[in-house]
Amino acid sequence: MSAPATAVDPMLATYKRWPIQFERGSGSTLYDPDGKPYLDLVAGLAVASVGHAHPDVTSAIAEQAARLLHVSNLYVTAPQRELAGRLLSVSGGMRSFFCNSGAEAVECALKLARKWGGPQRRGIVATVGGFHGRTLGALSVTGQPSKRASFEPLLPRISHVAFNDVDALEAAVGEDTAAVIVEPIQGEAGIVVPHDRYLAAVRDLCDRAGCLLILDEVQTGIGRTGSWFAFEPAGIAPDIVCIAKGLGGGLPIGACLAGPRVADTFTFGDHGSTFGGGPLQSAAALAVLDVIEREGLLDRARIAGARLREGLRSIFGSHSVRGRGLLLGVVLPSPTASRLAAAALQHAVLVNDVAPDVIRICPPLVITDAEIDRGLQLLEEAWHEVTEA
Ligand SMILES: *Cc1c(COP(=O)(O)O)cnc(C)c1O
Repeated sequence: MSAPATAVDPMLATYKRWPIQFERGSGSTLYDPDGKPYLDLVAGLAVASVGHAHPDVTSAIAEQAARLLHVSNLYVTAPQRELAGRLLSVSGGMRSFFCNSGAEAVECALKLARKWGGPQRRGIVATVGGFHGRTLGALSVTGQPSKRASFEPLLPRISHVAFNDVDALEAAVGEDTAAVIVEPIQGEAGIVVPHDRYLAAVRDLCDRAGCLLILDEVQTGIGRTGSWFAFEPAGIAPDIVCIAKGLGGGLPIGACLAGPRVADTFTFGDHGSTFGGGPLQSAAALAVLDVIEREGLLDRARIAGARLREGLRSIFGSHSVRGRGLLLGVVLPSPTASRLAAAALQHAVLVNDVAPDVIRICPPLVITDAEIDRGLQLLEEAWHEVTEA
């Protein structure tokens, strides 16, 4: 049967897409079907941390694909075991449950916290503006009413308190609280960075209340902010850490990491995932971790981030740039983020309008100084067009 004359969109209307198609990528550059290059300062939403088509990741995937794609979690595979070992060492001793996305990592964290808490401690305290994913459990802790409204009622016994406000958290945490869940830097809310003592204060509060601390590092983790995890500079140890985006180099893999207080909570049958941590995704993630180490990308995220931040400050004003490493937000003086992103696209630079007045810039960690400088120049031109219009 041929398609009807007035073709309907074959996909559900969940994303408003930019009118551009990409066919291949290399490092920090994407190419459209005509071969026109675009500088990618979005990295597939903080996913392509080692850049597009990194040869080590490509060959790890190709070799693993030729060997074995999938056996389920009923059996052992070397890539998965090795990946869990690597995550154990970079996290200071946390054990992994593998899944396929950020939302799934959060689901696992919530189940782990609930089982750990038992019938008396079922509550979860989350933050206003926080984003944890679109599945019903993850959505229940997400603190953005517009994303929740059509799907209520969501999980019970969840409260949301202001982010970066320890007093508000203290008032909400009680004897029935199983866990506090928080992002070290709120990503989807517009790169909102708490004060330097916030995470340590949240950790301290959780200890006093006897509840768990879950950190959602789906966006901030795996080198994005200049350390393996964004919690490291705070000098704390969370009980549970969720990771996903940057882990698989573009393949879908997430992990819920559990520290010693909770790692023995699940027993066989409590949780599962058919595809989670399959050999292909795990081989890709191992290659990503190797590249980050060998190419010194944790340091590079800090150094490149400082250069990018400096340049953005000179374009947009010194108080307008926030974030850490290569996870930056630019706060615009008016709600012009989508116009700026559109103008940037005309200049062949990709940025993300994460909020009406904030653009998010999260390029591959392999971005070069020359690419940063060119991106800044093109963004400045785009911004002039927006402000002169
Ligand atoms: C993106 C994101 C998620 C959801 O990840 P998905 O892979 O889209 O399910 C959860 N938490 C944070 C902090 C995120 O940035």
